[in-house]
Amino acid sequence: MLTGKTALVTGAGRGIGRAIALTLAGYGADVVVNYSGSKEAAEQTVGEIEAMGRKALAVQADVSLEEDCKRMFDTAVKTFGGVDILVNNAGITRDNLAVRMSEAEFDAVLDTNLKGAFFCMKLAGKLMMKKRRGRIVSISSISGVRGNAGQINYCAAKAGIIGMTKSLARELSSRGVTVNAVAPGYIDTDMTAVLPEKVKEAVLAQVPLGRMGSPEDIAEAVAFLASDKAGYITGQVIQVDGGMGI
Ligand code: NAP
Repeated sequence: MLTGKTALVTGAGRGIGRAIALTLAGYGADVVVNYSGSKEAAEQTVGEIEAMGRKALAVQADVSLEEDCKRMFDTAVKTFGGVDILVNNAGITRDNLAVRMSEAEFDAVLDTNLKGAFFCMKLAGKLMMKKRRGRIVSISSISGVRGNAGQINYCAAKAGIIGMTKSLARELSSRGVTVNAVAPGYIDTDMTAVLPEKVKEAVLAQVPLGRMGSPEDIAEAVAFLASDKAGYITGQVIQVDGGMGI
């Protein structure tokens, strides 16, 4: 499904990003495995992709820094000849009630989750416009659709991802590039493992399908949107949330 394509996945050493990188490789793509701090985890993801017979390269870059993003795309172009698929997955949380949230907590989440995606969209957009094809998929969140107490910063960033997705879809559609988002619900990763037990129970009670999602649940939706099969879908947000958002 993705043979001959190069994918760049941000935050691909751990969690959902790792599952996306492995799934895209499973469908035939070569993968640039971006990480910020988790070098060993990223190298392990690379090893697993290479074991599948695909090419992969771990590239350190803090997506909140434009210079880092530029260096990462330059490396991708030099190594693989281009980027056909961008997956904006890197994300952090700094949860707090709005009345207690510091400017630093607000900025950290916006800088990584929203501005980081913007930098990568811009760089990928330039490459893809020239080739007149490409796929951009960004990871939003059910929190960006519904809002969530204690996450005013995160919800702003994830709602912003949806706005950027729709805008960029309009800008790039005439060049054969599709731009979509996936909004996960409650997924089993390090990000949710740190939640207090009471919060975990309360969130799970809101999931009609009655279970947490797996990183692979998200990765399959991303792989579909990244494929030629999704060629007539752009500017959309697919909620992969066990029905949480119904
Ligand atoms: P996770 O396990 O905490 O992993 C976060 C990933 O983001 C790591 O690979 C991390 O890389 C990377 N990252 C963080 N800051 C970065 C930066 N400045 N530059 C580059 N990479 C950076 O979280 P996850 O659950 O897999 O989340 C992945 C995405 O899904 C995020 O956008 C998150 O908001 C979204 N999401 C998750 C859930 C959920 O329930 N888990 C629900 C909705 C949406 P390093 O380890 O190298 O720093």
